[in-house]
Amino acid sequence: MTRTALPGRKKKHSKKRDEILDLIRSTSSHPSARWVYEQLKPLFPRLSLGTVYRNIRTFREDGDLISVGVVQGEERFDGRVQPHPHFICSRCGKIVDIEGSMDKTQGMSEGFIPPDLYVDHRKTVFYGLCGDCREADEKGTTTV
Ligand SMILES: [Zn+2]
Ligand SMILES: [Zn+2]
Repeated sequence: MTRTALPGRKKKHSKKRDEILDLIRSTSSHPSARWVYEQLKPLFPRLSLGTVYRNIRTFREDGDLISVGVVQGEERFDGRVQPHPHFICSRCGKIVDIEGSMDKTQGMSEGFIPPDLYVDHRKTVFYGLCGDCREADEKGTTTV
């Protein structure tokens, strides 16, 4: 019995697909699908927002990118897949990577997690105001 050779799994490769992933990996701004769409639309005039969403979903399933969560109504993505803490500005929605590592349960009081539960990772998000938003505050542009 001869089997037609399997020269590695041939994934459907489209240039568009590669561009989407490259773009998300090349920025640390944790973009939304809409942002990706707006950047690529001039290059691929037939691109639709649905295609961007679909590709992003596949990348997530393949572990090529992660979701940071929904910020101001839009889901944001990260090409840096190793777990790392994030800072999210509650005013402008900017997402910043926090360097340094935490262990799985650091900061939790002892006994917080029931002993029958096994933690394999945790997501840490800090909320507050970014430098730009704080600066705007200090300039007194807002009156309460
Ligand atoms: Zn901000
Ligand atoms: Zn990140």
